[in-house]
Amino acid sequence: MMTAIGQQTAWIKGAGAHCANEKPSARQVWRLVVLGPPGVGKGTQAELLCERLGVCHLSTGDVFRACRSLPPQERAPAINAALELMQRGELVSDQVVMNIIRERASCLHCGGGFLLDGFPRTFAQAIALDALLQQEGLTLTAALNYVMNLDEIVTRLAGRRTCAACGASFHESRRPPRVLGVCDSCGGKLCQRDDDRPEAVRVRMQAYQASASPVVAFYEKRGLLRSIRAEGLPEEVFRKTMSALNGTILS
Ligand code: AMP
Repeated sequence: MMTAIGQQTAWIKGAGAHCANEKPSARQVWRLVVLGPPGVGKGTQAELLCERLGVCHLSTGDVFRACRSLPPQERAPAINAALELMQRGELVSDQVVMNIIRERASCLHCGGGFLLDGFPRTFAQAIALDALLQQEGLTLTAALNYVMNLDEIVTRLAGRRTCAACGASFHESRRPPRVLGVCDSCGGKLCQRDDDRPEAVRVRMQAYQASASPVVAFYEKRGLLRSIRAEGLPEEVFRKTMSALNGTILS
């Protein structure tokens, strides 16, 4: 299996880039979607799942963040418009997101399987992904849906610190950086995002519920939904995730 960096390259670069993640023999190939609001620890679970299952971590947010670091003249106009929406904390249009995914359809064929993180975020994206997978002759294994009560999410996000330079995420108590206020990955300054303040979090959660509920219902109807309570330590949540997936193998 390739390293995590190698796996990400094809996804981040898009068209033409190849991933060498090969399917180890006699191993189940997992094709997963991860759902859940900001603050539930989805990113941490995604990392653990990639490590354990050998799947490629395909995050649409990572693609947009990589585009942001390109000089403006090298970005397509649609990407510039998408980055402005992202800057304001809004969702990028379904059309732009689907173009990003279609350009990277070869990653869906990854021999090691995949884990889609941050996508699909709307009903239209879920329908479009379903059609794309059918067209590519692929099926999803499961949609993991991390759930947590609102007060706990507010508390968690209040402690979150994000790197102003690279976007890496830390938490004052749950995932502290090695040096207070400094990003472990790039040495950038860690800040609290405006939208991580409690009032803003409640508004974001309403927006999340509005767009995500139909996506959750979509996967539930197809029998693919595995809902997991996300309170507790990352390792505990991971154990619950693995037993939810083991149920998938047996079913
Ligand atoms: P994330 O890292 O998943 O939180 O994504 C960061 C930002 O990228 C989001 O706040 C959106 O602006 C944009 N984005 C990422 N994925 C999607 C998506 N599937 N649909 C719409 N916007 C997205």
